[in-house]
Amino acid sequence: MRRAALPVLALALGCATSTTRAPAPTPPPAAGPSAHRGDSAALLLSSNKLPPIPTDTGPLALRVVYPAAGDAIDVRDSSFLFGTAGSGKASLTINGAPVRVWPNGTWLAWLAMPPDSVMRFDLVARTTTDSATLSYQVPRTRRFVPPTAPVWLDSLSIYPRGRVWWPAGEWLTVGVRAAPGAEVLIRWPDGRTTPLVADPRPEEVPDAIRAFDHDTSRLVTPPSVTRYTGAVRGAAVGLPMGPAVGASAPSCPAPAGVGGCTPIAGDSAGPVIEAIYGIDTARARWPVQITLLDSTPQLIMLDDDTARTGKTDRMTVGRTRPGATYQWFFPTGTRAAVSGRIGNELRLALTRSSEAWVSVVDAVPLPVGLPALRATVGSVTLTPGSGYLTLRIPLSSRVPFQVVEDSRRLTLRLYGTATDVNWIRYGGTDSLISAMSADQPTTDETDLILDLSRPVWGYRTRWSGTDLLLDVRRPPPIQRAHPLAGRRIVVDPGHPPAGATGPSGFREAEANLAVALKLRDLLVQAGAEVIMTRSTDSAVDLYPRTRLADSVNAELLVSIHNNALPDGVEPWRNNGSSVFYNSPRSIPLAMAVQRALVQQLGLRDLGVGRGDLALVRPTWMPSILCEGLFMMIPDQEAALRSPAGQALYARAVFEGVQSFLLERGTM
Ligand SMILES: [Zn+2]
Repeated sequence: MRRAALPVLALALGCATSTTRAPAPTPPPAAGPSAHRGDSAALLLSSNKLPPIPTDTGPLALRVVYPAAGDAIDVRDSSFLFGTAGSGKASLTINGAPVRVWPNGTWLAWLAMPPDSVMRFDLVARTTTDSATLSYQVPRTRRFVPPTAPVWLDSLSIYPRGRVWWPAGEWLTVGVRAAPGAEVLIRWPDGRTTPLVADPRPEEVPDAIRAFDHDTSRLVTPPSVTRYTGAVRGAAVGLPMGPAVGASAPSCPAPAGVGGCTPIAGDSAGPVIEAIYGIDTARARWPVQITLLDSTPQLIMLDDDTARTGKTDRMTVGRTRPGATYQWFFPTGTRAAVSGRIGNELRLALTRSSEAWVSVVDAVPLPVGLPALRATVGSVTLTPGSGYLTLRIPLSSRVPFQVVEDSRRLTLRLYGTATDVNWIRYGGTDSLISAMSADQPTTDETDLILDLSRPVWGYRTRWSGTDLLLDVRRPPPIQRAHPLAGRRIVVDPGHPPAGATGPSGFREAEANLAVALKLRDLLVQAGAEVIMTRSTDSAVDLYPRTRLADSVNAELLVSIHNNALPDGVEPWRNNGSSVFYNSPRSIPLAMAVQRALVQQLGLRDLGVGRGDLALVRPTWMPSILCEGLFMMIPDQEAALRSPAGQALYARAVFEGVQSFLLERGTM
């Protein structure tokens, strides 16, 4: 897929900290030369096993590293800033609040955010002989601020907007934010109205808070008093736009962003949304152009490289709704029927009752009028090979499908199909497969179920004509006495491009590389063959990293990262070690490495988490992404700068990998 990874956040699973959490800290007081060290930050971090933080007593030099100059941040009441004071002997205040300075001169401040659109922070640093000041301005991300007028509506919140193709008989949900207590409606050009009603669901908790903040009271939000929703059906708006994929409407220039273009410029005859309160009315034109999908089926073929860059993974991702996480991975060539489009998100009908959303950029239209897909699943065969087994499924067309993985089972769900599997042929008796069966859970879905005698190690799918091939990987032979001997492991130092930065300005990409090189040495000493995705401080994109792991037939993929928190999440309470995975086959490896990280580093156990991250998405091997330490926490950044701290992290990952392989020992 062309899209970059989703942001590095995921729902933390099995968080082990909730019952053992240290008391909530107050902002840490300044620790000047004579300040006591019993503050909460020191208390929270005192149990770690990191090397001691070096002392720097250079001249005062105040610097804010984060947020970088000119960068806007999206914050509410509190957030963090970090940087250096130049000297570990400095005492520091920001807007009058004391901020702890660490022995190497770095600081991390959790502060009340001024309510202004450009926030001003006055930093004052002092030593016994010197002082320095810095006035630093940070803009807030622009947000809608309800006006004080008795009635208002936020025209930018109207949804959907841009170009929409929708079935005539299906309800389309419409939403807007408007003044509490108002009467809100859509007024059509012919005078009819459609009411939008108050929708008092709780305000959504920002993803960042949900994923990272352990203070569960922050997950409770008051009901919205400004959200109104309604639904319309069978309403075309503006000029007809032609088919949903391919030719676009002459009135609508090339879409910009998800919302699509601004339609029907100058057309005053479109629907208007009104908020009415007493004698006051606020109005905004509904910026939408809706074409009703007619009854002619529109089929498309998915291709994630319509721009012919050759740099994609030949998979189109599907989501359960626009903006949701990835649920399907459709290989190039998969066909499906279009059932709607909003902006640049295209809805595909997988079956009569299930649908997936993909990027319209990945859809190539097929001639209009082709009948809807309806494939028959014929007799499947299983062919054993040395490294993997291949299940060949003859189909009459390239229908969408999904592989669902359990610890010892692979279920291949084929959409828009009818089962005619009257013959399942095993190529000899293979000890990896304990049972194979076919099922038809609904009238147009077929499940092929493979039960394995061993935990799933990996699988991959590809088209061969209209036959779908599912390769099921054999687990590698692992010697219990030397679990790493002969194992082929890809080690991935995360970033550049991008990556976090620490208070002294140390880059995550450098930290990751140093740890990964030490990990490589440990693995090689134990007899493994290690392939690095990079071994210099050079930028490598995400997809070439996973492609390398696939192409060298890696048995494990281990990505090394160090973490950062999103704006607005309290850093002292929410930092620690964590490991991310994407599929069940990677959970035991993630758990083993997480246990070793917590044991070796002594930081808080943030648990393992499922993440939609590019580096844990390959299906051919167990793959994990380690977030050992936090770049933004001063003593953790200092540890990552030191060879001793890098070695500690590398040793932990090494031990975790080793104990995972030992559990899977076969000889
Ligand atoms: Zn990272």
